[in-house]
Amino acid sequence: MLTKKDINIVLEKIEDMFPDAECELVHDNPFELLIAVVLSAQCTDALVNKVTEDLFKKYKTPEDYVNVPLEELQRDIRSIGLYRNKSKNIRKLCTTLIEEYGGVVPNTKQELEKLAGVGRKTANVVASVAFGEPAIAVDTHVERVAKRLGICRWKDSVLEVEKTLMRKIPKEEWSNTHHRLIFFGRYHCKAKSPQCEICPLLDLCREGQKRMRKSSKV
Ligand code: SF4
Repeated sequence: MLTKKDINIVLEKIEDMFPDAECELVHDNPFELLIAVVLSAQCTDALVNKVTEDLFKKYKTPEDYVNVPLEELQRDIRSIGLYRNKSKNIRKLCTTLIEEYGGVVPNTKQELEKLAGVGRKTANVVASVAFGEPAIAVDTHVERVAKRLGICRWKDSVLEVEKTLMRKIPKEEWSNTHHRLIFFGRYHCKAKSPQCEICPLLDLCREGQKRMRKSSKV
């Protein structure tokens, strides 16, 4: 496992690589961000952005989603995986926003997590990006990178990964680190083809060193 000193080096290097990392889901307000993050489950941000370009022109408020037939909303997001479930969840969460929050997105993780289709990761992203609350949302990239680098153990659950990262990274760095780890995983330490041979973290990364040894034997 990496020491605190090593983790500080990791944070510095990924900041050097991705100083401007930020949420790539296009949105103009917390409500659009919430809808985009719900749509992004098991789907790329690029595809979500393609769909929301038109979606957000047609649907601007929670009422807009509730006032169309379910089938129409399903048609409008059908190119996104799990669109049937996502349509139902979006209508349910919009109903809750109207009935319990005056149509406004709540700003705490606890309240966000109670909305339909909103899990811990989504709540963390919205709380952090829309409301500036410190949070580390663990998605597939964050989990993979944290485990490959030895910040967390391979057997750790997503929740354990989040708790370990929160323990080992200063709170004021949580949100920035979350975005940088996503960029690092999405564009450099990719799932199928991590770029170990040019990685500035290779000296610290047992997984990368293992891969390099393997490839030099081939
Ligand atoms: S050395 Fe390879 S596995 Fe390790 S962080 Fe870099 S790219 Fe990822």
